[in-house]
Amino acid sequence: MRIGVPTEIKKQESRVGLAPESVGELIRAGHEVFVQHDAGVGSACTNEEYEAVGAKILPDADAVFKAAELIVKVKEPQPEECAKLTPDHTLFTYLHLAADPVQATGLMESGCLAIAYETVTDHEGRLPLLTPMSQVAGRMSMQVAAWALMRTTRGRGVLLGGVPGVAPAKVVIIGGGVSGTNAAEIAVGMRADVTIFDRNNKRLAEIDAQFNGAVKTMYSTNASLAEAVKHADLVIGAVLIPGAAAPKLVSREQLTTMRPGAVLVDIAIDQGGCFETSHATTHADPIYEIDGILHYCVANMPGAVPRTSTYALNNATLPFVLNIANKGAKAALKADPHLAEGLTVADGKIAHEAVAHDLDLPFVYPDWM
Ligand code: NAD
Repeated sequence: MRIGVPTEIKKQESRVGLAPESVGELIRAGHEVFVQHDAGVGSACTNEEYEAVGAKILPDADAVFKAAELIVKVKEPQPEECAKLTPDHTLFTYLHLAADPVQATGLMESGCLAIAYETVTDHEGRLPLLTPMSQVAGRMSMQVAAWALMRTTRGRGVLLGGVPGVAPAKVVIIGGGVSGTNAAEIAVGMRADVTIFDRNNKRLAEIDAQFNGAVKTMYSTNASLAEAVKHADLVIGAVLIPGAAAPKLVSREQLTTMRPGAVLVDIAIDQGGCFETSHATTHADPIYEIDGILHYCVANMPGAVPRTSTYALNNATLPFVLNIANKGAKAALKADPHLAEGLTVADGKIAHEAVAHDLDLPFVYPDWM
């Protein structure tokens, strides 16, 4: 198959769809790979490294989209990328379409087959292509929160770990999944006072065992969360309802009950955010303030550590890319129910039920499936 890797064009995004090592695996399996000139530089992957494993470097995105049948990217296609997609293309990337009607229209009009990383499953029903980026975002959330909490960024002026004789920061993590527990790992390492809220009792028990008492766990209700948020220095939003918009768990009114200078980090912003006052920000201008509460809502957090993120993502995506390339997209989707969970746009229609529901569009599963 002919596989294309364009440069990511979303603001502040420096990851790349395939690292040279992954390209090498595809070429060894008999495929052709076309990489846009300098697509990898943001992840410290050079054109020479791609050429050394047999990729062809093309000058621009137009050339890559024209040469390739399968486009492997990182972020959702921007309008100018949707305009380059045709019914001959399969797109494999993060889409996060549920909260993005403009992109949905662009993809439907293109006629392409779009498979979303974020809803592909594994044999335990987990989301293996979301996991590595959630690990990165979770761990990174504590780095950015530690910075935002400093007085120099108008934060509360609190050191996460405190010092002997001074209490550590109170950290509330909403959602004890992959990003939430990775955030907790770093927070505990920094000696913060950590509580994780979740609605899944099995998950709460696993976290309790994993951290051996170093974090508190709480069942997440409106009342329990409201009480904890009041006393928190830092709240991390890390919930997920797969394929759907995030539930709003902290209201605007609740901000007035919080400690001035407290920080909210909304990791779930890519699904619309779990705080009522969240709106997406970029790495160039990541923080804003409402009622004295700082909000960090960067939708592509892993983009700030692209080298780590590109390799973490590629470790997870490569088996699926190889499968699509070896079998052809439709045959691969039919043969692998886990890949089929990622099917989102086909034949100009939304082919994922939860996404169609959130977009208020008809759900049309293709008859060839
Ligand atoms: P996950 O499925 O591993 O964990 C989500 C957890 O939220 C689950 O344990 C679930 O039980 C819990 N949950 C659901 N509803 C809840 C509620 N009302 N109260 C408390 N807990 C609740 O998900 P994840 O991989 O950690 O991802 C979390 C979010 O982070 C997703 O929206 C994902 O897309 C996003 N994400 C964002 C970035 C970024 O750069 N901003 C990067 C990676 C992932």
